[in-house]
Amino acid sequence: LVSRKKQKEDTVVDIKGVKIGGSEPVLIAGPCSVESYEQVKAVALNHKRQGLKLLRGGAFKPRTSPYDFQGLGIEGLKILRQIADEFDLAVISEIVSPHDIELAIEYIDVIQIGARNMQNFELLKAAGSVNHPVLLKRGMSATIQEFMFAAEYIVSKGNKQVMLCERGIRTYEKATRNTLDISAIPILKQETHLPVLADVTHATGRLDLLLPTAKAALAAGADGVMVEVHPDPAVALSDANQQMDLGQFNDFLSELQASGLLK
Ligand code: PEP
Ligand code: MN
Repeated sequence: LVSRKKQKEDTVVDIKGVKIGGSEPVLIAGPCSVESYEQVKAVALNHKRQGLKLLRGGAFKPRTSPYDFQGLGIEGLKILRQIADEFDLAVISEIVSPHDIELAIEYIDVIQIGARNMQNFELLKAAGSVNHPVLLKRGMSATIQEFMFAAEYIVSKGNKQVMLCERGIRTYEKATRNTLDISAIPILKQETHLPVLADVTHATGRLDLLLPTAKAALAAGADGVMVEVHPDPAVALSDANQQMDLGQFNDFLSELQASGLLK
């Protein structure tokens, strides 16, 4: 069902009026984790100034270590909804359990399925059983075919509003957190009709590489880019080293716009 052979036209996912896929590329940005109302509000205010509509923030954090901050859970989703309603934004957050899908869609506009859960088939089926946009991230060791099959799990349950997100894969290279698989972008655009995004923050883990990799992803045909931005990265409860502060983010955005690759 996700194959280009089945459907020639691009699937366009409409998130509160923002169209992803087939038209203008978009920027999705926000903190790694939702930490407080004030923290998300600072990012939301900057989004409004910049004319951005899509805000991400993790509430259920799938952390590598069980001793790391695990997220605010439902409280975090409530903060996102409050901010979305106050500032007229659309909010995206990762859900890690199939049992939380029904509840989550009351609070968030896009369900994110993270790299670590790309082959959590019960979660994929639950996300496929609701009529709500899903952003599916590529597993860190998943082949492109496995990634497409994961999307197929969702679409085959009836939910066609699926976006794919390349976020870097695990290789022997240590210079970056993961290796951004640039060629996955045109391959996925050719092989599927789904929108394709690139999360350059988790792909690189390096602030100095966000702009060149975002440009590369858009030049390769990505329908959008995802990055992390935090009002005070030094005190962030997760991914403190890879999040831009608001000034860095605004510079990143204006340089991307100056390149002509993003409106
Ligand atoms: C995230 O986007 O918050 C995240 C944890 O990313 P990934 O699943 O790609 O590691
Ligand atoms: Mn993160």
